[in-house]
Amino acid sequence: MTTSQPITPEDVFIGRVAHGGDLLAELTNLCTEKNVTLGSLQAIGAVRRATIGYYDQAERTYAFETIDEPMEILSLVGNVSLKEGVPMVHAHVTLGREDGSAIGGHLAEGTEVFACEYILRRFSGAELHRTFDEPTGLPLWEM
Ligand code: ZN
Repeated sequence: MTTSQPITPEDVFIGRVAHGGDLLAELTNLCTEKNVTLGSLQAIGAVRRATIGYYDQAERTYAFETIDEPMEILSLVGNVSLKEGVPMVHAHVTLGREDGSAIGGHLAEGTEVFACEYILRRFSGAELHRTFDEPTGLPLWEM
């Protein structure tokens, strides 16, 4: 079974995240500045280091790993909704290493931008709030 609700595309913002910025924090600040509470995100670029998470489904906790090396942002995809009344960016990244291999996970603070080009889409529609989901232990959309 799936659940859904209608959304309507509104503004689209295209831009860069400043060199040296924290990727997740800057994208979250951007959403606050542009009043994006429902949206989608994509980005490419490069990072100097990254912190990504893996959700252990049995333990119901995130394990975070910091990879302290320059990498490409091969793909960042994410969405924006509300958690505790403020915009929350949920993004996953695939990162490319020097040898061409890839690593990826749930984007966390501690990811330092070398260069980043993003596209942020704002939608209108009913507010989407994250609340605790018992089957997964995650803050998921209440629909
Ligand atoms: Zn995630």
